[in-house]
Amino acid sequence: MARILIAEDEHRIASFLEKGLRANGFATVVVDDGHAAAAAARDSDFDLVILDLGLPGQDGMDALAEIRRRGDRLPVIVLTARDAVPDRVKGLERGADDYVTKPFSFEELLARVRARLRDTGKEEVTQLRAGGLVLDLRTRRATIGSRTVELSAREYALLEVFLRHPDHVLSREQLLSHVWGYDFDPGSNIVEVYVRYLRRKLGEHVIETVRGMGYRVSARAEPSTGPDDGRST
Ligand code: CA
Repeated sequence: MARILIAEDEHRIASFLEKGLRANGFATVVVDDGHAAAAAARDSDFDLVILDLGLPGQDGMDALAEIRRRGDRLPVIVLTARDAVPDRVKGLERGADDYVTKPFSFEELLARVRARLRDTGKEEVTQLRAGGLVLDLRTRRATIGSRTVELSAREYALLEVFLRHPDHVLSREQLLSHVWGYDFDPGSNIVEVYVRYLRRKLGEHVIETVRGMGYRVSARAEPSTGPDDGRST
């Protein structure tokens, strides 16, 4: 299991990252201070660091410089405000591997985490399965039975969350925060809309509605016998 150090002093974002990463099978440790970040990166065996630039103690940039001064090649993904472009340039020079600008969706961050871990050979899962449904994490296509289905970025992200939690009932709020990030509008019906898109593409039965609780993809999801495409919802 890959271990990720999260250096973020904003509690809401730290806990959003921690929950999302844990749900996706990563082990996480959170620190909220720049000195603690550099020390944790030195003293403990992490596979990747998510580093906020605006940290108390020493800022993220200095923590990054300290990590790199020790010759540590630990992958570092920097979190930075969208308007802090000069910081990003400075971060690149100091050896950040990637950037995510705030506000970000969990999907975006997760894709970058996976990409960096792939570079270091830590992430080897390439397919997720639930019965007859297979999601290929490299091509981002789904296969159901013998049928290959093209997915939009959001459809893919939503299906990925379901397939990482087979048989779990996932609430609308959980799906919103996983796929649409922490800036979602809680009143939005976007989850319902995308569940409908996925059903249209994969078959009505693939995503089950659990009344009053949320949605579930069964680990034994079977390909349907008839064509589902175009069937009304
Ligand atoms: Ca901060």
